[in-house]
Amino acid sequence: MPQYSPPLRDMQFVMHEVLKVTDEFKAIPKHADVDVDTINAVLEEAGKFAAEVTFPLNISGDEEGCKLDKTTHEVTPPKGFKEAYAQYVEGGWAALSCDPEYGGQGLPFVLNQCLYEMLNSANQAWTMYPGLSHGAYEALHAHGTDEQKKLYLPKLTSGEWTGTMCLTEPHCGTDLGLLRTKAEPQPDGTYRLTGNKIFISAGEHDMAANIVHLVLARLPDAPQGSKGISLFAVPKFNVGKDGAIGSRNGIYCGGLEHKMGIHGNATAQMVLDDAVGTMVGAPNKGLAAMFVMMNAARLGVGNQSLGLTEVAYQNALAYAKDRIQMRSLSGVKAKDKPADPIIVHPDVRKMLLTAKAYAEGGRALAIYCTLLLDKELHHPDEKVRKDSGEIVALLTPIVKAFLTDNGHISTNACMQVFGGHGFIKEWGMEQFVRDNRINMIYEGTNTIQSLDLLGRKVLGNNGATLKKFGKVIGALIAEEGVNEKMAEFINPLAYLADQMTKFTTELGFKGFQNPDEVGAAAVDYLRVAGHLVFGYFWALMAQTALREIAAAESQGKPTDKFYTGKLQTARFYFAKLFPETATLMRTARAGSKSLMETDDALA
Ligand SMILES: Cc1cc2nc3c(=O)[nH]c(=O)nc-3n(C[C@H](O)[C@H](O)[C@H](O)COP(=O)(O)OP(=O)(O)OC[C@H]3O[C@@H](n4cnc5c(N)ncnc54)[C@H](O)[C@@H]3O)c2cc1C
Repeated sequence: MPQYSPPLRDMQFVMHEVLKVTDEFKAIPKHADVDVDTINAVLEEAGKFAAEVTFPLNISGDEEGCKLDKTTHEVTPPKGFKEAYAQYVEGGWAALSCDPEYGGQGLPFVLNQCLYEMLNSANQAWTMYPGLSHGAYEALHAHGTDEQKKLYLPKLTSGEWTGTMCLTEPHCGTDLGLLRTKAEPQPDGTYRLTGNKIFISAGEHDMAANIVHLVLARLPDAPQGSKGISLFAVPKFNVGKDGAIGSRNGIYCGGLEHKMGIHGNATAQMVLDDAVGTMVGAPNKGLAAMFVMMNAARLGVGNQSLGLTEVAYQNALAYAKDRIQMRSLSGVKAKDKPADPIIVHPDVRKMLLTAKAYAEGGRALAIYCTLLLDKELHHPDEKVRKDSGEIVALLTPIVKAFLTDNGHISTNACMQVFGGHGFIKEWGMEQFVRDNRINMIYEGTNTIQSLDLLGRKVLGNNGATLKKFGKVIGALIAEEGVNEKMAEFINPLAYLADQMTKFTTELGFKGFQNPDEVGAAAVDYLRVAGHLVFGYFWALMAQTALREIAAAESQGKPTDKFYTGKLQTARFYFAKLFPETATLMRTARAGSKSLMETDDALA
């Protein structure tokens, strides 16, 4: 059976030692009182909840899956999910970072980020029920009318009701401009919705008293394509003006998908049959309103893979220390045993360190992004708010795609550490691989993320935001450029940062002449950008570790192995993972011809 131990020490390292979040909070009046002890105490309890309540349901949830009663259209999630959710609501976890005006605790997003990383490690399928509610909360908070906010936000905040996002239809996934669900205006100001949605996560279940579906649909006179899409709040049970739950609405589950992973989450086909809804935001501006939810969800999906990378790593590490097989190439290590533990073998170490480097780099990036969100929303200085918002927008496709691709690499590597046993269900490793696989697909496939990054976020503004983040990296390079101990981290980072400008300009120029050049290079480009960002965070973490080691030495204290371990992982990252950027730049530069002039090959 797999194990999970919340990585609190590493979270504290990133928050308190690397990013110094409480210093940043001091400049934000809303969070000025949030101190280190509060953060640590909250996360300790969050870790207990994840490890003790939802983690034990991970394998059973996968085996049991969700059941649909076709006569009542009710869905029953796996045993224990409902009770765990009740405990989650009771513990106030749903309200952690929500607005106090609607009953939230108003704590920084950074805490929610760490809570969710642990929940995802423990049980991604379960975590998607509250996770999607959080996105619905944010979309309604940003674009809802006063009445919608009053009706829905307190219930979503407490977790008494959950939320979903209903975009996909059978014929339209990536291209939402094709969607057909119709919304007819009614004399009382409401709308009647008719259509079919598919693949709706947490679309139907009995864990909460009501479900607020955020549905994209078209008004009768809407322009074609993505300019004619509006957003509607459509509750499972109609809600009276006083907030009381009323009759069953015409939105129900017509079927459940049988799928590769996340079996405990209900992936529902939702039928809208004259369902009553209210519009969120302006007519035909639904995509903009939904983007609030989609951006939150994109960061959330990256976090799902971060969680899985961490839990897969922990289990592979424990197994590699225990499993004995063959002798070390450089001589016997465990003389008292008939063979050495597999952790002595270089390639096993490489697999373990790959997952560790991707988990810890991902954690630093994810926490940094949520710190930016806290600043974007609550910092008193308008320029800080604006810059933070721009940088988080730039980093969002990287979090979504780089972390989920790395999750794929890492969960597979960790499964490989188990040899044939990794392929066998009882060890839990193959479930991590299966559960992670969807993260590369939903919320905009990773290809779409790469087009968003290169096409919109980088070339779309002539690299202005990239330059802004480049300045953040440049400051670290300037600060440490002459520090010999940092050279092994700073030199490759500085080299890539310098290359990146040329590389981007070159792709922009080629893309201007032939847009397929952007499509051909985008996926490689995102991975290069991902390493640039990870390189920055690994250099920053190495800097902190070196300083701590030096401080201990100067005081005659023993070195804390946490810091030497961090340094060793940074060295591994720069030596073994970061250099793939050279190949990626080369393949990106190879252009579109070898892809597009292949009609005979693909005939
Ligand atoms: C388990 C699960 C849960 C989901 N949860 C939800 C949910 O809660 N709500 C919801 O609304 N949807 C949900 N989805 C749907 C999901 O977001 C879509 O499956 C995804 O966006 C891709 O759409 P599609 O499946 O129609 O693929 P398509 O859009 O048909 O894409 C097929 C392939 O073509 C590629 N492609 C398409 N256009 C381009 C382009 N312009 N350039 C390059 N490549 C392109 C894609 O990257 C992909 O590889 C879920 C899906 C699954 C499987």
